[in-house]
Parts: sequence; structure tokens; C-alpha cells
Amino acid sequence: MTVGLRLSSLIVILSKEALSMQKPRLMTPGPAPVPEDVLLAMAQPVIHHRSAEAKQNIVESVAGLKQVFKTENEIFILTASGTGAMEAAAVNTVPKGGKALVLNAGWFSARWGKVCQAYGIEAVMLDTEWGQPVDPTRVANALSEHPDTACVMGTLSETSTGTGHPVEAIGKVVAKTDAVFAVDGISGIGAMECHTDAWGIDLLCVGSQKALMLPPGLAFVSVSQKAWKKIDAFDSPSFYFNLKTARKKMVEFDTPYTPAHTLIIGLKVALNRILAEGVENVWARHKRMSDACQAGVQALGLALFSARPAEGLTAFVVPEGVKDSAIRNKLQEKFGIYTVGGQDKLKGKIVRIGHMGYTDELDVISGLAALEMVMAEVGYPVQPGIAVTAAQRVLLSPYKTI
Ligand SMILES: *Cc1c(COP(=O)(O)O)cnc(C)c1O
Repeated sequence: MTVGLRLSSLIVILSKEALSMQKPRLMTPGPAPVPEDVLLAMAQPVIHHRSAEAKQNIVESVAGLKQVFKTENEIFILTASGTGAMEAAAVNTVPKGGKALVLNAGWFSARWGKVCQAYGIEAVMLDTEWGQPVDPTRVANALSEHPDTACVMGTLSETSTGTGHPVEAIGKVVAKTDAVFAVDGISGIGAMECHTDAWGIDLLCVGSQKALMLPPGLAFVSVSQKAWKKIDAFDSPSFYFNLKTARKKMVEFDTPYTPAHTLIIGLKVALNRILAEGVENVWARHKRMSDACQAGVQALGLALFSARPAEGLTAFVVPEGVKDSAIRNKLQEKFGIYTVGGQDKLKGKIVRIGHMGYTDELDVISGLAALEMVMAEVGYPVQPGIAVTAAQRVLLSPYKTI
């Protein structure tokens, strides 16, 4: 009897073990997978954040970030999630009662408006239908209508819709005005081509947990000379996200408050990976993964949600008669694959598959194979192999360099 009980509990333990053998596969557009060498670098004893070693890590990280962001501007490392960088950009460049133009085309760009509201900044919302790219001509028109705009707030990759916006063209428009251009590049940087200086981005806001291959907890903001003029013209109400305070400390490669130094150690390793592969090659790899994923999804008869897809994720429309949660839950239960659904008004309407950072073409192929099986299981007509074949065709084509 006792032996029997023991055996049955052993079986329970064993089956739990068996379940945990399933690899968790983050195919979410943040957080994204973190490479083993980055994880190991962070598993070291904590060092003091004012030590020479800690400062050296900041020196090297900032140098690496400059190469990845394609900027000569100063970069600040903030201990926050990506939104902290957005808040820093807004609250330091636009005084209370000042005006911002928000290129509102999704859940994350709408967040710019919410940040403005919190600080008494007047946000003029230039609305674009979700899934469509922002039209630079409309930005030009809005700026002539609102010549007192201090900051234009846009997005490189709108993660809620899977859309890449024409930041280069918008940057040209903004550069002709007195306004500065703040760009949320949180899910775009490291996944999509972006030239901060050449494209006229005055404040580039980035977070650690997307294509930069780190856990959440760090935010980065680059600041141009044009932006410093705005920043120096008034006293920002922010204490923690005050860029003037950060600039004073950065002179000696320090931060005003204790940074998440363990993450900075990981950052150094993650940036070295990107630089070793080559920034342009990283962009090209993402373009290929994105093309392959889109081809696979479309071969299944599923429609892409975005008219101008971003390269770190693919968003597809949930077909009639199928529940998005059924697709996502089955992907997770059967294959350990985590994906996300839609936010706000897109809840239940789309599924978003992340393929950014520490992700390769084979991850996309296996993700598509799993999607085929899961779609068949939820009653959607699937010809096995059809998505995989379409993706392979893309991957068999010559490598396009950037
Ligand atoms: C993830 C994301 C954010 C939010 O970043 P947090 O790190 O959660 O603060 C903002 N904008 C975009 C485009 C994102 O992808």
C-alpha cells in the first residue's frame, strides 16, 4: 500500500519532470530570448556600482550602443523599462503647457500621449489607422498647423500592430522645423534598420528586453545637440528621469542613482554579439526572418495585419471561427511557444509572433511548423508543411545584405 502510494507520487513527479523538459520558447515581441553567454555574464558576484570596473562597463556599453544606434550623440542608461526612456524624452524637452505632436498609430504610440498628459504637456494626436504606416506628408501638414510644436513623438516599430513606420522620411520633415524628433525604438532597434543621426532622430528611446537580448530593466536614450537646446531652456519637473542630472554624472561615466549594474554587464556581452555579427547583418537577418514568417503565415491563408510590417515580429489576423486564445494556448501547451494576442481594440483579433534578437531562421521554421499543427487542431484547414515550405523558399533565396 505504502509502496503503491510512493510509486504513484513518483509517477506524478516524473510526469511533472517530463513536462518541464519542454523548452520554453519565447516568441513574444518582448521579452525576447536572452543568449546563454549574456545570462552567464550576469551570474557573477555583484560589483560596486561606483568601482572603476563598473565605470568601465558603462564606457564600453555606451560605445557599443552608439554603434548599434548609429549615433555620435550622448547616450544615457536608465534603470527603467523602455517607457522610462520615453518619459525622459518627453519630460525633458517639452515644458508644462508646451506642445507635442504624437504620431498615434497603435497602443504604444498612444502611450506618448499618456506620458504628455501626466506632465501637463499638450499632446496633438495625429491619428493613423492601426496597422497603417504614418504618412510623412500629414506630419508636415500638422507641423505647419502647429508651428509651436516642441517635440514630435513617433515610433520605429509599433509592436501592437506589427508595423514599421517610415522614420527616415518623417525625420526629414521634422528636421526642417524647430521641433525635436523623439522616436520609440524599443522593439525596433537591433531588429530594423535605423540610423539615428542620418535620419534626424534627436531622442532615440530603447529598452533592454527586445532585440537587444537582455532581460527587462534597462532603458536607453540618445540625445542630440538640438535636443539639448530644448532641455537646457527649462527646468524639467522630473527628478529621476532628469537628463541634465544624468549628463553631469555621465562626464565621469557614472549615473546619478544606482544603476542595474548586473544588467549592464549583460548588456556589454549582448552588444558584443551584435557587433561581432555586424549591425547591418543583424538587420538583414531580421529582414529574412520577417520575410520568411510572413510568407509562412500567408501560405496558411492567414492575413497579415500590418500594411507595412515591422521586422521584429509578425502580426496575423485571427481567422473567423477561431479563438486567438485557443491558438496561443495550444502553442504554449504543446510546444512551449509563447506568443501574444492583440492589445486594446485588437484584443482577440490578432496573434503576434516575435522573432527578434536571439532568434534565427530555424526558430521561425519550427514556429511555423508548430503553428500549422495548432491551426489544424483548432479546426482550421491546413495542408501540413505549407507554411514551412513557403518560409524555406524565402530562406533559399540569396541573402540580401543591407
Ligand atoms: C515593449 C514596448 C514598449 C514598452 O516598453 P516597457 O519596457 O514595457 O516599458 C513601448 N513601445 C514599444 C514600441 C514597445 O515594443
